[in-house]
Amino acid sequence: MPESEVLIIGGGIAGASTALYLARRGRDVALVERGEIASEASGVNAGQIGAIGWGDMPDLSAYLTMGSLRLFEELQLDLGYDIEFRQSGSLTAIHTLEQYGYIRDHVHSMRARGFDLALLTPREARAIEPEINPNLPGYMHTPLRAQADPVKATRAFAAAARSSGARIFANHEVGGVAPLADGGYSVATGRGEFRCGALVVAAGAWSARIGEMLGLRIPIVPVRGQMWATPSLPPMVFQTISSAESSHDWSMDDGGDARTPPELTHRGDARVTRHLYGRQRRNGEIIFGGDRQLVGFDKSVDHTGIEVNRGHASEVIPLLNGIPAARTWAGLMPFTLDGQPLIGRVPTRDNLYIVGGLASSGFGRGPMAGKLLADYIHTGHMPHMLFESDPDGRVTDL
Ligand SMILES: Cc1cc2nc3c(=O)[nH]c(=O)nc-3n(C[C@H](O)[C@H](O)[C@H](O)COP(=O)(O)OP(=O)(O)OC[C@H]3O[C@@H](n4cnc5c(N)ncnc54)[C@H](O)[C@@H]3O)c2cc1C
Repeated sequence: MPESEVLIIGGGIAGASTALYLARRGRDVALVERGEIASEASGVNAGQIGAIGWGDMPDLSAYLTMGSLRLFEELQLDLGYDIEFRQSGSLTAIHTLEQYGYIRDHVHSMRARGFDLALLTPREARAIEPEINPNLPGYMHTPLRAQADPVKATRAFAAAARSSGARIFANHEVGGVAPLADGGYSVATGRGEFRCGALVVAAGAWSARIGEMLGLRIPIVPVRGQMWATPSLPPMVFQTISSAESSHDWSMDDGGDARTPPELTHRGDARVTRHLYGRQRRNGEIIFGGDRQLVGFDKSVDHTGIEVNRGHASEVIPLLNGIPAARTWAGLMPFTLDGQPLIGRVPTRDNLYIVGGLASSGFGRGPMAGKLLADYIHTGHMPHMLFESDPDGRVTDL
């Protein structure tokens, strides 16, 4: 029966990073994962790393994005893992004059708060991204944004954790969790029991199911995201690409309520906006996605949504017009109902922690989320920025 000081449930980027930074602190840590490392959202995402700077008064969002950027850089540049990391920058396409006004105000207010972003004319944007549409009103440029391969990066965090002494158990599905009299936990997997002094729930979209095993309501729901890829093409898209349409629409109505997370593309079956993100991978595939839909744990691809997304992407990069989708896929993102991540200690249980609810940007924010939680567990003191993600009062008894 494996025993450890800390046991992490979930081998996505949040769990793998928590394991790495606990092991680096010399803690005895084990991680159990139902499938392979990076077999869920952390392996199927678009690989975009969002970052716009620390700003004048860094908040949790700044720590998660800028901190994670540094941790990705360390993997690629210092530790020698090839995770296809590039600080490529990013362009956000503006399709209408209403969107232009919204983005112009956003850029002005964010620059005034010390963030690094700019409004470009189509001509200026084409100088750095030649294939984008010259006939749109403008583009927002965020030079700090980056990209990496999701599977390689997540597995590199797990490999670095292993090199630092963490024990990683793939193909171990957790089926039950029971508290022990000494404040620790017994965790039942299909391949035997694990015991630990402290437990970390890092089970992504499945976190609520682990919560139920502990008599807890964890307010994380699965939201389906889906993507498509062109055949391999010569290099022609250099930055990450997105569109202002969804953020403009969500700024007027984010659609969230007691049972629905904010900022989805659909309400039930009905589309409320179009969302877009994409980039060209090192293997030449141009990949795009965007839809965010509540469909339970269904990971099948909705091809109507893929066609809408292909049309949207072609408006921004006209050469995509007529290039077929060579493959499509979907994954489940862990959205919280209030839109804030859950990173911290669950105060109603002994030695129980959670790192999750990283929603649609958990690849880019997961490394620092795991590091901040590891620092908390190791020192016993909550890093001040984690007040914004505190489970206290949000994770409740069933
Ligand atoms: C299509 C798509 C595109 C995206 N694009 C981006 C992007 O470009 N940039 C970005 O920043 N984010 C993006 N995201 C979001 C990002 O992928 C997620 O926020 C992030 O990967 C969440 O990481 P996680 O470790 O919390 O969850 P996951 O990666 O889902 O990991 C949780 C792990 O827990 C395991 N698990 C669950 N239950 C059990 C159990 N009972 N026993 C053992 N193990 C269990 C699962 O198998 C899984 O591996 C995208 C997501 C999708 C689906």
